[in-house]
Amino acid sequence: MINGEKTVETPIRWAMIGGGRGSQIGYIHRSSAVRDHSFALLAGAFDLDPGRGKEFGISIGVDPDRCYADYRTLFAEEARREDGIEAVSIATPNSTHYEMTKAALEAGLHVICEKPLCFKTEEAEELAKIADEMGLVVGVMYGYSGHQMIEQARQMVARGDLGEIRLINMQFAHGAYHTAIEKENPAVKWRMDPRLAGPSCVIADVGTHPLFLAEAILQDFEIEQLLCSRKSFVEDRVLEDNAFILMNLKGGAQATLWASAINCGSLHGQKIRIIGSKASIEWLDEQPNQLAYEIEGEPARVLERGAAYLYPEALVEDRISAGHPEGLFDAWSNLYRRFAIAMNQSKKGEKTDFWFPDIRAGVQGVKWVEKCVESADKGAVWIEY
Ligand code: NAD
Repeated sequence: MINGEKTVETPIRWAMIGGGRGSQIGYIHRSSAVRDHSFALLAGAFDLDPGRGKEFGISIGVDPDRCYADYRTLFAEEARREDGIEAVSIATPNSTHYEMTKAALEAGLHVICEKPLCFKTEEAEELAKIADEMGLVVGVMYGYSGHQMIEQARQMVARGDLGEIRLINMQFAHGAYHTAIEKENPAVKWRMDPRLAGPSCVIADVGTHPLFLAEAILQDFEIEQLLCSRKSFVEDRVLEDNAFILMNLKGGAQATLWASAINCGSLHGQKIRIIGSKASIEWLDEQPNQLAYEIEGEPARVLERGAAYLYPEALVEDRISAGHPEGLFDAWSNLYRRFAIAMNQSKKGEKTDFWFPDIRAGVQGVKWVEKCVESADKGAVWIEY
């Protein structure tokens, strides 16, 4: 069980490129990286617009002198400091990933890059070569693969619980781009522009996520042949908004992947189902705490995150134990946010005009327990409150 203690002696000195105000993924990077004190956010080039980036960096507590106009200045200036950054996360549109990752590695920095790493295999291999030569770590943010139930699935496959693996059925099929919303939404606009998104929209943008889940779960996952059909259903789109992919795997298993942005009514629709000769498992990212385990001829089971019956490898990274919903982290963050604002207002002598569980909530809880006990001890009778 993780207790948030340090996993490294000193937090990795860390910066971000992109992930500025209003970006989809910046906050998720920041809150995940700093949660266990493993990384300290000390610098950044947070936005395409330098002024907005600096203002944003300052607003999240970064030293104004270390909020840079662009990533090249970030690398150059940080290299001059004794306490300069050691690692950088890249959370910018896809077309920038190759040049930024390459420049970061050449500057001696470890990298966490958003997917896709780049557009061409030769470029990806080149980045891998530089990283190997420099002895640097490159992490690619296939974020869902960090879920505890993916480790459980990996252990189940490795231990033969499913038998011989025959089929892998994957999908990431949402409905959010079922109309031409790229006309108003900048985060969708670049995803539909081949100059910024690369040669694919949904295959890269969402399809790569379940693909990596399969790679993480099946340690010998190796594609031998592949067939892909892609199409754009919304008028004037150059890149595909729907794709079907069939794959033959080494060892004889077959896999399918459906990537879509026009699956009306679906929020994410990311799923992986692994079918073996004895049993199947299935995981959906919208209900991540449950892993369906279906043995042929037996009633279906649902394995729960954090439960003691999971394999030890899946319990190592448990954070809050079974039962507590993961949304608890968000709920607690919201309360800490409100506590902080209230404390700050109190320091300034201002009155708080929003609610939070305050001292009166504490009093009410204590009184309620006292009255319950009093009623029960009197033989479960009505008492005045
Ligand atoms: P976004 O358009 O919402 O935000 C992009 C951010 O990058 C903005 O703040 C923008 O100002 C900044 N930016 C752009 N060019 C820059 C530059 N040259 N220098 C500095 N900052 C720059 O995009 P997003 O949805 O957050 O996506 C960013 C990346 O994250 C993409 O590669 C996307 O594929 C990936 N992504 C991954 C996941 C995941 O689950 N891992 C989810 C969403 C997005």
